[in-house]
Amino acid sequence: MDGVFPMSDHEHNNITENNREKNNKPGKTEAGKRLSSLMAKSYMDLHHKAAEGAFVIWVAIVVPVEIFYGFDNVIFAVPESHAAMSAGKRVSPLQCEKAEQMGYSPDVCSYARIDVGTAFDEGRDSPTSGLPHPDLLVSNNNNCSLLVKWFDIYHREWNVPHFTLDVPFCYRPQQNEERRYIKEQINDLIHTIEQLSGQKYHPERVVEAVKNSSNAYAYWKKFLGYAAHYPSGITAFDSFVQMAPILTSRGSKELVEHYKFLVEETSQRVRKGIFPVPHESYRLLWDNIAPWHQLSKMSGRLAELGGNIIAASYTYCLGSLEGEFDYFPYDENTDPLDYLARLQNFSVCPQGLELRYQAMSEAIQRLGIDGVIFASNRSCKAYSLMQMDLQSRISHQLDIPTVMIDVDHADPRKYNEETAFTRIGAFLESIEKK
Ligand code: SF4
Repeated sequence: MDGVFPMSDHEHNNITENNREKNNKPGKTEAGKRLSSLMAKSYMDLHHKAAEGAFVIWVAIVVPVEIFYGFDNVIFAVPESHAAMSAGKRVSPLQCEKAEQMGYSPDVCSYARIDVGTAFDEGRDSPTSGLPHPDLLVSNNNNCSLLVKWFDIYHREWNVPHFTLDVPFCYRPQQNEERRYIKEQINDLIHTIEQLSGQKYHPERVVEAVKNSSNAYAYWKKFLGYAAHYPSGITAFDSFVQMAPILTSRGSKELVEHYKFLVEETSQRVRKGIFPVPHESYRLLWDNIAPWHQLSKMSGRLAELGGNIIAASYTYCLGSLEGEFDYFPYDENTDPLDYLARLQNFSVCPQGLELRYQAMSEAIQRLGIDGVIFASNRSCKAYSLMQMDLQSRISHQLDIPTVMIDVDHADPRKYNEETAFTRIGAFLESIEKK
């Protein structure tokens, strides 16, 4: 799993605005404008600091980036996030084709193809001019093994060191020995960075970064909580767009301030009776990565049908433990590395069926979900593989209508809007008949 910042927030909000205007609803949020500035600044800073000699690390999204704050001049870039943004900006087919021309199969995850296409064309056609060249690559293998192979390409071609965090899959809540095993590797990573960068590590700074992340997650969960309102105060599409800085600015004060602002603004809008889909007839849950190239179209068409995807497993997992729906806070009396190690399975991909079902059924009950859209994702086999079992269990045990549609989160060439909406239309009718 991964993500983010698909189309510019400006574009997303303008399009959503059109839908909203049709429904006599409000438009672009201040938090949306803030997000655009935050993201633009974070990519500009990245290039700027790299040009001035910062030690650059490329990370997979689950890597505990808070430890980088323990160094004077270490910065990180997130290829998955950049790939999602490229998909939202509609340059992903171009970047995918570049990778395919190099011999990479179209069956390889579209994030990897976008990134390879961008990286080996020196950032051309990228909304951010690509990412600054890395000094170190840090992947992890619990989301998928493809990610490790993807980062290995740069290790081979550019001779950049590659550190892989070996995080066990979880079919049950994480055990103490697993946490110790992960924590040892985080310590190894810290030593590796010290050796490669020549910089000293300051653990007290990491405490601050972890507190920031934990506080940001607290606000994030409050924001998602507005989905419990009738009609919902948010759409999952809002959460897809707004999750971007969790990946690119985790550990920073700016992240906390941004989500605080987002919560305050959402709260005011709900108090004033401003809702994204005011005539909400169907409260839906989405399972899989966001369809970055379809956010505006899908939210608009659904809203016309009275449907609102109010929550998604992709975004409610952020800030929770595996199988949980609630916020997992940092206890300031404990070692921050324990907290980081404990959260290593937050994303859905490494979780077994039981844990995924547990969190999803909690979401369904708490948010009053009428039906679930399972998005079978051509790229992310890790997220998609057990969806049929999950779908059957949700339908039978919770007696909730469900539908499976085919998507690719970042390669629009593998998605057919009309086929998807034929299924979604029939699905909404089945909810209506219940
Ligand atoms: S296959 Fe899935 S988990 Fe792996 S990199 Fe692609 S989107 Fe992420």
